[in-house]
Amino acid sequence: MKIARPDSLVETVSPDVTSFLAAPLAVIGGKSSPAQSGETFPVYNPATGEVLARVPACGPADIDRAVAAAQEAFEGPWSKMLPAQRQGLLLKIADLIEAHGEELAQLETLNQGKSIMLSRLIEVQSSAEYFRYMAGWATKIEGSTLDVSIPIPPGMSYQAFTRKEAVGVVAAITPWNFPLNMAAWKIAPALAAGCTVVLKPAEETPLTSIRLARICLEAGLPEGVVNVVTGTGETAGAALVAHPGVAKITFTGSTGTGKRIGIQAMQDMKRVTLELGGKAPMVMFDDMDLDLLGPATGIGTFFNTGQTCCAGARIYLQRGIYDKALEVIAGITRSLPLGSGLDPRNQLNPLVSARHQAHVKACIAKGIEDGARPLIGGTAPDKGFYVAPELFTDVRQDMALMQEEVFGPVVAVTPFDDPDEGIRLANDTRYGLGASLWTTDLNKVMRYVPKLKAGVIWVNSHNIPDQNMPFGGFKQSGIGREHGRGALDNYLETKSVCVAYR
Ligand code: NAD
Repeated sequence: MKIARPDSLVETVSPDVTSFLAAPLAVIGGKSSPAQSGETFPVYNPATGEVLARVPACGPADIDRAVAAAQEAFEGPWSKMLPAQRQGLLLKIADLIEAHGEELAQLETLNQGKSIMLSRLIEVQSSAEYFRYMAGWATKIEGSTLDVSIPIPPGMSYQAFTRKEAVGVVAAITPWNFPLNMAAWKIAPALAAGCTVVLKPAEETPLTSIRLARICLEAGLPEGVVNVVTGTGETAGAALVAHPGVAKITFTGSTGTGKRIGIQAMQDMKRVTLELGGKAPMVMFDDMDLDLLGPATGIGTFFNTGQTCCAGARIYLQRGIYDKALEVIAGITRSLPLGSGLDPRNQLNPLVSARHQAHVKACIAKGIEDGARPLIGGTAPDKGFYVAPELFTDVRQDMALMQEEVFGPVVAVTPFDDPDEGIRLANDTRYGLGASLWTTDLNKVMRYVPKLKAGVIWVNSHNIPDQNMPFGGFKQSGIGREHGRGALDNYLETKSVCVAYR
């Protein structure tokens, strides 16, 4: 079913979704597949806390099968496809994501909890656009010709060139905050480059990734090019990372898991891209346009109920606007409706899991215990995994609230006096994924953007990635960049070829 208007209410769940939920199996070598052990585990509806479906609890044996299928496809039919054929298939996948758009959006909201509006606009529409964007790169892979100065043996001349070659089987491991979109960020560039993929989605939210693998088959992708294996990080994830048949790991998730995966990858010298956690600052100067506090709060901080890696979780307000801006931000925070994602009027939704709900509540309790002052103190529905948004003042820079990722609707606000101090506080964290500056003074923009230590800097906006804008972290927010042409390079090896002639 084609996607509905982004802001329309879901009154009844599509029958396609209901029938899919009856048997969401892994996709290995083009076939829907239970775990070899026959075991399954539940996935939940965060809005009710009830079991939504059961998925295969895959383990090392299933990973072996999936990697073998991906290797076979890589050596076989996929390697014989012309770049233009890969481009055509990626475009077809994009069309089919749109054609099944409403089903995918409803599935995502039921499984992840997020607003149906975000599911439609980001998970579905932006994922389709991502496949289209990456389709274009499939036909633009190029090396260069190199003049070389090799003097021996006498009488020989040389010409060298580089080739860009697909790295091989890609292990893609994704988090639960944007399940379909994260799968697209990994699968689309890998396919454009000519790689094959084994994707291990987060155990909380595997459903749309399974559906995407089926869409890839429907588009005509050869069997084994895209495999989706469901399971926990400790079993399926770890087995995938360690598998000798995997050439490249692309991981998005927490910094702790990323470090473990990075260390493991180095054991075998696998190529690795790590997109990790964040604790993004928003630095607001006295001369900012205060009308922008609406989008700053709604999109910058509370987008996806704060479950965004570059959410503006630390707001630094220059003293001259502190009282006024804090009042506006607090007013907006109090006004955001909290409820089921199936009703697009709810701008805040349940968190993804009971475990994450407990983590966010513990972060709030720790903030209070450390002496920070909660301004909102709202209430949340008892049923489901809800947490009311909270805004803290009197937050010292060394408190967990300023240093550790909450990954929920919890924001720390603090004043600063001069701009250099604001930038120093913004940089004072182990993370460096995103940051923003808010000012109407171009001089300040040009002066302070180079001083912020983060992979993406927004000016007078926050938390809005684009497919053509490199995305990734400084410091402990990761290694490598996704998006843009660079995303393709993540999946390519450079081979130098040196030709001697007389
Ligand atoms: P997580 O690290 O717990 O899990 C991410 C994925 O890794 C899951 O699929 C999980 O099953 C898997 N995993 C866990 N242990 C593993 C292991 N030992 N070996 C292999 N795989 C393993 O993260 P999460 O809680 O799912 O996601 C939230 C985190 O993701 C936050 O820290 C957030 O900032 C980060 N994130 C970063 C970006 C980015 O682009 N930088 C985007 C989204 C989310």
